[in-house]
Formats: sequence, C-alpha cells, structure tokens
Amino acid sequence: MGEAGVDVGLGVDAEQGGGGRGGHRHGPTDRRAAPAAPADFRAVRPGTRTRRRNWFDMDHPTPDAAITSLSALREAEAACTRCPLYRDATRVVPGEGPAHARLMMVGEQPGDQEDLSGRPFVGPAGQVLDRAILEAGIDRKTVFVTNAVKHFKWEPRGKRRLHKKPNAHEIERCRWWNDIERALVRPQLVVALGATAAASLLGRSVTIGRVRGELLTGRDGEPVVVTIHPSYLLRLREKADKEREYARFVADLKACAARLRQAA
Ligand code: SF4
Repeated sequence: MGEAGVDVGLGVDAEQGGGGRGGHRHGPTDRRAAPAAPADFRAVRPGTRTRRRNWFDMDHPTPDAAITSLSALREAEAACTRCPLYRDATRVVPGEGPAHARLMMVGEQPGDQEDLSGRPFVGPAGQVLDRAILEAGIDRKTVFVTNAVKHFKWEPRGKRRLHKKPNAHEIERCRWWNDIERALVRPQLVVALGATAAASLLGRSVTIGRVRGELLTGRDGEPVVVTIHPSYLLRLREKADKEREYARFVADLKACAARLRQAA
C-alpha cells in the first residue's frame, strides 16, 4: 500500500457522470439516424479558429461558453454527431468526478463495459487504475476520470465487440469535449493515460517512453503528465513484466500526487 490518502480534489460539489443518452446495442451495419444537435452548443465566436498546420491543428473552435456545467456538457455530448462513432456505440460515456477536481485522468476511449454502463473506467482496465490510484495514496473519489474519445469504437469478432483504436480524425473531433471538461473542472494536473490521450492533450504524437513522467504543457497551457494506459498492463503475459510495469505505473501516479501536494 502507498502513503496516506491524498485529497486531490475539493469533492464538495461532485457532478457524477450519469450515463448520457440511453440506447440499444447496434451492430456495425445498424446505422442510427443522427440525433439533432442542440441549437447552440457548437456556436463559434468570430476569431476563435486557428490556422491548420497538421491534423492536430485542424480548425478547431474554442468551446462554446454556453456550456457552463458538467450536466449541460453531458447533455450536449449525448447528442454529438461530430464523428461517426456515435452510430455503433450504445451511448456516450461522459467524464465523471468532482466538478472542481485538482487531478484529471484522461484515457483513450470507453471499453465494452463502459459503453454498456455509460460510466468511464468501470471495466478491467478501470479496476487496475482504481488499485493503482489507491496504492499511490490518492483518494479515488477526488479524481475526475474521462476519455479523449467519448464513444466506444469496436469491431465484431464473433459475438464479441473488440476494441478498435480511434483514428486521428476521431481523436481530433472529440477533443472538443475534453477541452470543455478541462475548462469547467480546471484541474491543476492532467494525467494522460496512453498515447491517444497524450496526443489529444499535447497536440502532437509522443512516444510514451520518451516523455513518461515529465511535466509537460498541454495545448491549452495546462500541466500534463503522460504515463501508460492501464489496459497495457492487462496485455502483458509474463507475471514479472506485469509486476514491474504495474510498480512503474504506481510510481508515476505517486509522483503526480507529490506534485499536487507541492502545488497546494
Ligand atoms: S466520439 Fe466524440 S466526437 Fe465522435 S460522436 Fe462521440 S462524442 Fe462526438
């Protein structure tokens, strides 16, 4: 076990993600009609577009100031059709945690269980993350957890739905929502869990091994630390590898907790 629990969030006005729009499971050929988007959540003020330099810098408007709460954000996310992934997912999976958490963790995308429940990090990788957070001495209830991409991307394999990595376009399109999440929650530290989250937050592709644990600056100026996604640990076959990499992961999270203590 780690140190005594560190409260890294205010935890007094928590807004928990509630699952978004309900829905049914759909196969890849069962295309739903696009739901109507809210009238104003995509409004773009003049002068907020940036010049295209590469796919990360594609024209991307500043998130609309009309979304002023996490509940309004969840509502807008549930109606999102900014990329095709909403068609085959059961429901959107919004971020979840205290409204003003000091620590935000961003994963890649929801998995099968998250897609069915509408909550982030409730599947096997989420259980690994919960354990690592605990062992790092962080109070899990004070952490805002979310994903870079809010709908589950998958492909059929028999009766199973296998995770499929989101592409650059989908990551870029969905960045809109995490931009708003960060603007609302205003975390003091954002942890990118894996390469997809790192790319979304930093605006460039990075090699995890090269930047792991460093204090980086996100595209909006926020402090970002990159580490592995907990699903990586599930894919390791050798017990010794699992133990070594899990210990490194916990050490990364401990270092994040220490940074927050210093900043308090
Ligand atoms: S993955 Fe993101 S951008 Fe694509 S439809 Fe879902 S919420 Fe919208």
